[in-house]
Amino acid sequence: MTTSATTDGDSSPGDLAAAQAVRAEALEGLLVDKGILTDSEVDHFIETWSHRIGPMIGAKVVARAWIDEDFKERLLTDATSAVSEVGVNPGRLERLEVVVNEPGVHNVVCCTLCSCYPWTLLGLPPSWYKSPEYRSRIVREPRAVLGEMGLELPDDMTIQVWDSSAEVRYLVIPERPAGTDDLTEEQLAGLVTRDSMIGVAQPLTGSGFGR
Ligand code: FE
Repeated sequence: MTTSATTDGDSSPGDLAAAQAVRAEALEGLLVDKGILTDSEVDHFIETWSHRIGPMIGAKVVARAWIDEDFKERLLTDATSAVSEVGVNPGRLERLEVVVNEPGVHNVVCCTLCSCYPWTLLGLPPSWYKSPEYRSRIVREPRAVLGEMGLELPDDMTIQVWDSSAEVRYLVIPERPAGTDDLTEEQLAGLVTRDSMIGVAQPLTGSGFGR
């Protein structure tokens, strides 16, 4: 199989996305033609990882950590084991580390080398997470990149950037939004977005729950 797609440094993000889509489609066609996969298996995989696994598994972990200090402590000690308490099979994770936002400290995750990501908790990674621009700039100028993504942080906020690898994946526990004391664990999980668990956004506020 050949394709005219290139990945040189002159390509725009749109060009790269288009090239990757062409390549993925060609690969899928080849695997289906050879009888290794069926179209419905591919659709099932995408549906499962996009909507049924992620990012709501990670949101359950965060919501439990918000209401259960002991669980949060277990996450900090051995996250790979602790997440089994919310139904994640730790056998499908490499080592998981949890990093906790707190007043004055914000955490954000990347993979400078490629696209390592806690799939088991968050599902499919967003395309920007895999882009060369995000991977290179977030470590050099995190405040600027986060600002461009809509997350303005105060100048006195310490920003910690965590570089994932094949061995270690990171999950951010964002700060619990104010005014959510009366919410159930399930309602709290509904406030936790994928981007807030990568650290490029804050969780939603609790204003949608009848207050
Ligand atoms: Fe990687």
